[in-house]
Amino acid sequence: MPTLADVRNFARYHLVRRVVDHPARETELGVEPLGYDPDAYDAALARPRDGWRSDVVAEPTYQGRAYPIRRLRSGASTRSLLVLGGVHGNEQAGLLAIPAILDAYDAKRDALGPVELCVLTPVNPVGAAHLSRYNADGFDINRDFVRFETEEARAVRRVFDEVAPDLMISLHEGPQDATFMFTNRRVDEALARRLLTAMERGGTALATHDYFGRALSPPGYAPMGPSAWRLSQLWARTLQMKATGVWADERGVPEITLESGWRSTDRDARVRGHVDLVVAALERLAEGPL
Ligand SMILES: [Zn+2]
Repeated sequence: MPTLADVRNFARYHLVRRVVDHPARETELGVEPLGYDPDAYDAALARPRDGWRSDVVAEPTYQGRAYPIRRLRSGASTRSLLVLGGVHGNEQAGLLAIPAILDAYDAKRDALGPVELCVLTPVNPVGAAHLSRYNADGFDINRDFVRFETEEARAVRRVFDEVAPDLMISLHEGPQDATFMFTNRRVDEALARRLLTAMERGGTALATHDYFGRALSPPGYAPMGPSAWRLSQLWARTLQMKATGVWADERGVPEITLESGWRSTDRDARVRGHVDLVVAALERLAEGPL
């Protein structure tokens, strides 16, 4: 039986579109910060990189300061992977994985050449700077893919339409102990298993349960089944909320939401799965269409 606290948390994340009116910090779910520094992060991404194009696609403001959302593209190609880092600002592993992902792409550029990597990060730069899930106005961006009230969700939509990705990966974290991934209906099980194997080989511990307590089989794999799909449609119709996975699914695009465990203080254990997942996805796309 769920406890009252479970129900309260579920309601907070699923029944209310705007939870607070500012980038509020999480106090109950035990998020361990990993030392994300917004200025150093942006400076690292702004530095010119051979073969990459970089631009700022939006610049949300908070308390008189602008916080850039940066896009990096590896160059034109036949297939593309769009990676979202930091849709929830307090889930730092997905942010800190990005520089390592760019380095990994460069190290394998010859092999990965047919695949364009497009990275958008931080999708929620105000939340990232304030250790918050929410944006400057207290919106959860990953609930805003019906109304697009936030400039962050609109930036994702704009880039998605431009890139027309063959696959999208959104890097998240959650309160569970290990790492798992939600996949939308467009991700086939063979692809999911291949990516899970790559993460496991890299040393990532895969979760046997997701954060709702559902058993995952194989470990780390949370596909969207028919009942979850129906629930997501109801959620969108009644409460006007939709996450990136369902939104991409409706556009025919496979999407993976990776969730590492934010309670761990082991930075490498939290970050490495994000890097390994993206590299394995790039390698798969380099072989041919999904
Ligand atoms: Zn998240």
